[in-house]
Amino acid sequence: MFCYQCEQTAGGKGCTKQGVCGKTAEIANLQDLLVFQIKGISCYAKEMIERGEYIDKSIVILIENILFTTLTNVNFDASVHVELLKETQKVKESLRNHVGEIHNNTAQATYNLPDTKTDMLKDAPLAGIMYDNALDPDIRSLRQTIVYGVKGISAYGHQARSLGYYSDQVDNFYILALEAVTDDKLSVEELIRWTMRIGEMAIEVMKKLDEANTNTYKNPTPHKVNVNIRKGPFIIVSGHDLKDLEMLLIQTKGKGINIYTHGEMIPSHGYPNLKKYPHLVGNFGGAWQDQQKQFDNLPGCILMTTNCLMKPRESYKDRIYSTNVVGWDGVKHIKKDEDGEKDFSEIIQQALELGGFLEDEEPHEILVGFGHHATLSYAEKIVEAVKSGELRHFFLIGGCDGARPGATALADAFQTDVNGLPLSLIVSWYEQKAVADLLALLSLGIKSIYLGPSLPAFLSPNVLQYLVDTFDIRAISTAEDDIKTCLKQS
Ligand code: SF4
Repeated sequence: MFCYQCEQTAGGKGCTKQGVCGKTAEIANLQDLLVFQIKGISCYAKEMIERGEYIDKSIVILIENILFTTLTNVNFDASVHVELLKETQKVKESLRNHVGEIHNNTAQATYNLPDTKTDMLKDAPLAGIMYDNALDPDIRSLRQTIVYGVKGISAYGHQARSLGYYSDQVDNFYILALEAVTDDKLSVEELIRWTMRIGEMAIEVMKKLDEANTNTYKNPTPHKVNVNIRKGPFIIVSGHDLKDLEMLLIQTKGKGINIYTHGEMIPSHGYPNLKKYPHLVGNFGGAWQDQQKQFDNLPGCILMTTNCLMKPRESYKDRIYSTNVVGWDGVKHIKKDEDGEKDFSEIIQQALELGGFLEDEEPHEILVGFGHHATLSYAEKIVEAVKSGELRHFFLIGGCDGARPGATALADAFQTDVNGLPLSLIVSWYEQKAVADLLALLSLGIKSIYLGPSLPAFLSPNVLQYLVDTFDIRAISTAEDDIKTCLKQS
């Protein structure tokens, strides 16, 4: 195996025996093959786009699900990968029959998947990142950056689609970008242009997700969230999928079960149509990296709706559930029915049987819900505070929620461009969504972004130098030094 798609990659270079994330060589190899297959599908689908033909959404959904499945900390279940692989072969064959001769007749397009997992694994090396040793390192670097950016976009696209929203432009872009990375004729310059297009599409998909979330659950407003525990049975919901949270809230209504968010799900408390449920009682735990310790022997259940899932300990493996594209071998999985609904009765029953926390803790509240809508409603006050010197500098740390309207609309209020604001953008990247976020900011022309905690291993020295020269990207150093440098700009 070889994988260097996330920040925790072994030795800052690449995981080669076992992923630091817990991914086995078997899963890594199956994931390589999955990405190889969707590149092959894209070679045929691109021809259809060029001919002006409609691409069935089931094909787009398969591509999107595979991109998201192979994102860091999402799926570790070999049987899911094998099933998806078989599906890719069926789709590829039907496209091949439909399209006939194609211009870019790549290895990915002509490859035929064998029937068994053993044979698939034998073939997997040809799909590996380092398979072609002689490949120009900058071409490899840019191709991988594009694939990781598209994976990031797929996470947002998947979330929007679960609420019934999608962008045809993004759907076609998955195909066009995946085909582009198989095209040996594309130069470094052309691949750089593709990387910038990833940023534009990341903005497009975030706009679509914002529309999906705010039309469905209304604009987030500031809201106090209790981060301490309440007595009684409970289910913790982790990940990003608001639809799953809503379905669970509806199904647990009046059952005496408290629902806590965890990790990336905390912003859900700001949405009026979610916070209206009184049994959405608070947030449990801290960062996702602490989940193994925090879920240990928990007297309740956990639902993982998207990443980040870590290897479940035996002490809670029987009470953690996955849904959507998330999976771990041996962890119970909740599927969607034909109407898009999910039956949460098993997790609800188990949560009731486990009994939950025995005592209330003294409440401790934190504020969430500062989406771009809420922030911009204070634009006038913010402008005044800056002019009076009361507010000296803005720090925007990571995140992807409303990057465009939040940053650029504030710049409009100051009648400047975003680079003219006393603003420092710090992108703390971990997995591929942050790659899409970073490229989104670069495509907006935003400069001097601090990137860390370490620089991506998949950026070759030349590609990194290009980003430094063009966008003044800076590596994060120490908090004290970075704050000093940022404040010097004020
Ligand atoms: Fe390593 Fe990250 Fe890849 Fe996991 S996702 S194998 S930790 S580089």
